[in-house]
Amino acid sequence: MPNAQTKSVSDKPVIRENVNLAPLNTLGVEAVARRFVEIDHPNQLRQLHDDGFFDRQIPIVLGGGSNLLFLNRPDRPVLKMSVSGRDIEAREDGSVLLKAGAGENWHQLVKHSIEKGLGGIENLALIPGTVGAAPIQNIGAYGVELKDVFHNLTAFEIETGKFRTYTAAECNFGYRDSIFKRELKNQVIVCDVTLQLTKNAHDLNVDYKGLNDHLESKKISDPTIKDIFNSVVEIRRAKLPDPSDIGNAGSFFKNPVLSEEQFETLRSNYPEMPSYKVGDDEYKIPAAWLIEKAGWKGKRVGNVGTYKNQALVIVNHGGATGEEIYNHALKIQESVRNTFDIDLRPEVNIVGNES
Ligand SMILES: Cc1cc2nc3c(=O)[nH]c(=O)nc-3n(C[C@H](O)[C@H](O)[C@H](O)COP(=O)(O)OP(=O)(O)OC[C@H]3O[C@@H](n4cnc5c(N)ncnc54)[C@H](O)[C@@H]3O)c2cc1C
Repeated sequence: MPNAQTKSVSDKPVIRENVNLAPLNTLGVEAVARRFVEIDHPNQLRQLHDDGFFDRQIPIVLGGGSNLLFLNRPDRPVLKMSVSGRDIEAREDGSVLLKAGAGENWHQLVKHSIEKGLGGIENLALIPGTVGAAPIQNIGAYGVELKDVFHNLTAFEIETGKFRTYTAAECNFGYRDSIFKRELKNQVIVCDVTLQLTKNAHDLNVDYKGLNDHLESKKISDPTIKDIFNSVVEIRRAKLPDPSDIGNAGSFFKNPVLSEEQFETLRSNYPEMPSYKVGDDEYKIPAAWLIEKAGWKGKRVGNVGTYKNQALVIVNHGGATGEEIYNHALKIQESVRNTFDIDLRPEVNIVGNES
């Protein structure tokens, strides 16, 4: 991916000590990295490998810090991926490959694709973070997931020091999930991602109710990719807290998926419960509804709270430690378990309590 914007290959990565991570995570949690290195060019990873950097400890890879919670002062070194660069390639079948460096800002890439008339990621506007993190949890919003447009990615294998390409099938994408959160956790560093987008005959997705309602309210019956992009941006600005105003990491938990039997039992007690059928016999329940019903919407305990407009978002009202936020999340989990017999799983990556 190296291009004019990236640093020269020979720049040796600088390892810094005691770096403050508070401005580098959107929850705004205070944490200090004992060792910190920022990567501007993929070849710097190979240099680190040759210097034995990875022999001692596997680093915590950091993108925009919008989907992780630092529980405490990380022992492991923090490696921030800042590789930039964008590249567009037209294909014979009329589609377009858009390749971007891992450190590129995701929303800016979506904006860029709209400016170039490329369709496919307009529903994923305004998701904070970097391109390199997008495949880790297969980001999704408003009826579209990264996997729908994903072509391949290049990753650096920490153990071998080699670069490898992963196809969509190899990434094993699932709901907020991929092979990088499971079998390959802590083993690879994503360097660039390539998306396959449409140049003409865009395959628009406006099935998501909130998006559809918004377009109707604007009297847009035949939307363009730009209309969808603008609508998603407007909806998100109205609904979600901006991390620059109040610390948060977006949805703290995943929406639970229930078997038909669990779903029917629950529905008999809560006929008004919203749900989406996601397989032949599986149902997704909005975690926000469960948390709200359990009495947590807008609730504040010390420096931590649950957002007033969206119960799925845990917010840092200022000065909250990673542990305070984590304990708040545990209390929500316990309360949902006691009320509905459902285990909520965190969507946010908790750094500090992994094995
Ligand atoms: C207000 C708000 C709204 C949000 N809305 C959505 C939404 O609608 N849909 C959605 O899916 N997510 C959403 N999120 C979550 C978040 O934006 C995404 O998960 C995003 O992809 C995280 O990107 P990041 O660069 O900040 O990743 P980070 O938080 O820095 O890292 C996330 C994980 O990925 C790993 N990682 C990061 N970069 C790399 C790399 N290059 N190689 C290997 N591993 C890496 C990290 O180690 C960590 O485990 C939201 C967050 C916020 C704050």
